[in-house]
Amino acid sequence: MVEALRSGCINHPGVEATVRCKQCGTPVCDTCVESGPTGRFCSPACRQKHEAFMQRAQQRDGRARSGVFVKLRGLIGSIMIILVVLLVIGVAAMLFPIPMLSDLVFQLRGMLNI
Ligand SMILES: [Zn+2]
Ligand SMILES: [Zn+2]
Repeated sequence: MVEALRSGCINHPGVEATVRCKQCGTPVCDTCVESGPTGRFCSPACRQKHEAFMQRAQQRDGRARSGVFVKLRGLIGSIMIILVVLLVIGVAAMLFPIPMLSDLVFQLRGMLNI
């Protein structure tokens, strides 16, 4: 890192570069550095490019965590659980048909002398 910064400023040959552009990595001196809210850059163009990139990244994150998306995922999850429960009930009904249940009721009634 220190080695890389020994290279000269892109605009002032002979002047030691103190900063590397966050967007393109170009070495620049203190005079040329373009500071912005997202970092330090070699030119306004690079600063704007990086700011736009950060904004897009934030918007993408925001959309991914937005309420509608989460609610939709929750709804799909609930539907899946209901479907699984219905499937289990269906399989159980097939494995234990109604006649067996009536037999059980009949036996219980015999035992209880109803
Ligand atoms: Zn740059
Ligand atoms: Zn310079």
